[in-house]
Amino acid sequence: MFCQKCGTQIPEGDHYCPTCGEPAVIKAKTPSESDHTAMFAAEDCAKTRLLAALCYFNFIFIIIALLLEPDSKFLRYHINQSLVLTVFGVVCGLCAIVPIIGWIVGVVGSVAALVFTIMGIVHAINREAKDLPIIGKYTIVNYD
Ligand SMILES: [Zn+2]
Repeated sequence: MFCQKCGTQIPEGDHYCPTCGEPAVIKAKTPSESDHTAMFAAEDCAKTRLLAALCYFNFIFIIIALLLEPDSKFLRYHINQSLVLTVFGVVCGLCAIVPIIGWIVGVVGSVAALVFTIMGIVHAINREAKDLPIIGKYTIVNYD
């Protein structure tokens, strides 16, 4: 078991993290269709969460992340979402070619893409693997 706050391994039976003193709460694993956090190793999430967050900023970080942590499932989960988001953004951009209706779709879609990007970054930093609305169910990169 690992500390929720700093990622240090907490010896079995201990109630507090030996590094930062955070109480060792056992995370209730509520099975949910959109929350896949439980399927990733806590150690993996703690190690790769910053890289995972960076993947939402720029494609370059996806390549760097894959080179540094090719075996991380948590990383691949977020790489998949950031790629789906990129596709979503491109589709919204293409919609904007069509006058009026396309412009509306393009603007609404771009705002949604920005909100989803922020959500993805927050999830990654919080070591969560929660599907984003609308785009969350699509898979480009397999993370199983
Ligand atoms: Zn700690």
